[in-house]
Amino acid sequence: MAISKREACFIGGEWVTSDQWMDVDDPATGQVIGRVPRLGRRETQQAIAIAARAMGAWANLTGKERARTLRRYYELIIDNQESLAALLTQEQGKPLTEALAEIIYAASFIEWFSEEAKRVYGDVIPGHAPDKRIIVLKQPIGVVAAITPWNFPAAMITRKIGPALAAGCSVIVKPAAQTPFTALALAELGAQAGLPNGVLNVLTGGAAEIGGALTASETVRKLSFTGSTEVGAKLYAQCAPTIKKLSLELGGNAPFIVCDDADLDAAVTGAIQSKFRNAGQTCVCANRIYAHEKIHDAFIEKLAVAVSALHVAPGCEPGSHIGPLIDERAVQKVREHIEDAVQKGARIVTGGAPHARGGRFFTPTVIAEVNQDMIVSREETFGPLAPVFRFRDDAEAITQANATPFGLAAYFYARDLGRVWRIAEQLEAGIIGVNTGLISTELAPFGGVKASGLGREGSKYGMDDFLEIKYVCMGI
Ligand code: ADP
Repeated sequence: MAISKREACFIGGEWVTSDQWMDVDDPATGQVIGRVPRLGRRETQQAIAIAARAMGAWANLTGKERARTLRRYYELIIDNQESLAALLTQEQGKPLTEALAEIIYAASFIEWFSEEAKRVYGDVIPGHAPDKRIIVLKQPIGVVAAITPWNFPAAMITRKIGPALAAGCSVIVKPAAQTPFTALALAELGAQAGLPNGVLNVLTGGAAEIGGALTASETVRKLSFTGSTEVGAKLYAQCAPTIKKLSLELGGNAPFIVCDDADLDAAVTGAIQSKFRNAGQTCVCANRIYAHEKIHDAFIEKLAVAVSALHVAPGCEPGSHIGPLIDERAVQKVREHIEDAVQKGARIVTGGAPHARGGRFFTPTVIAEVNQDMIVSREETFGPLAPVFRFRDDAEAITQANATPFGLAAYFYARDLGRVWRIAEQLEAGIIGVNTGLISTELAPFGGVKASGLGREGSKYGMDDFLEIKYVCMGI
């Protein structure tokens, strides 16, 4: 069975349309590939009421019963991985191999949390008086809102709805306007898996109106957001009056440090994986590469060879490594970061300009002699640009790496064990990659410190964000 583009929202188990629409395009061609309803505040309020009604029965099931439905959901995603990946590439642009990997990654959150659904353990604590016992229950937090970005149209949704559904919550998802079809396909598969009507809802439309209604609602008890720090901070403020629990997965500015004892070939492989996945459009992408002065030139030479070998092509073409960027603004940003760096003394090692294919394609680029005065040291480029800084000792690298308000991922390559511990402990980030450029898995806690966010997603810790602790004091 092929997954189709659903030009309707999914609310209360029904497909809902509107007389107002938003077009969705293919970033590789700029062509419109379909449209989705532009819903607003009123429809969001209705969806919240529906989700609240649906939650009771879902929460009252045993964890084992919810686990069975979620397991079926996982299997349906796996069974449909190829058509889901094709849809994802069409609306998002990433190479088909990466889209397939994302679908499998996305499914893994449903699988993991289907298993965790059975393990939401409470506690019994010895009482403070001979005739008292203390019981700790964990209960679903309530209706959950999930606002997700376009760079991982499937995984950013399942990483939120997996634990929410496993805990017994109902969810309203607002996907990014650029990538709604993957979200709607996931809603369809959830219904096929047997999620009761109203437990999983997907709304498309005006971000500010839908976001405004979700955050203002007293019924919505939790918001899980992935996106920019700017919007995250706005939503944080909007959630204050109703004291909602928040998970925020926001921007990063990941440092990638190559020490003088690093395995350089491994460091180049890691840098390519970390920097150029999704054409540099992930929040854990290396944004600043620091190379020790002793290995600096050798590292740059190897990196340049690897980067020039990356094949720029539409994601649906076999052999594509780098697809188009999401929109014109993204292309402009990469351009500006390069221009600013070059003007302040950086040297282009390879690339440096939009790709000859035109449109939203950009040539993978390495620049050297980068310093802390350049925009690339402060802002996330979110594109295929690898700026390389030179450093003299570990203390300097760590100071520069931490000189950012962000703290999502940080990477470093080194062999000396003491050094590895010291650097891992001193880097201010929620996720550290040591001798690896790939850190994402459903088994580990994903999340940032400082302006990169609040809370953790995935792993045994990921469920807590969707649960309330209730203390029952029992006299006997
Ligand atoms: P990006 O830069 O990755 O597009 P954004 O933070 O702009 O990140 O978008 C992430 C998600 O937040 C998207 O689903 C977007 O529609 C949504 N969003 C953007 N602005 C608002 C807002 N004012 N209120 C609620 N959601 C918003």
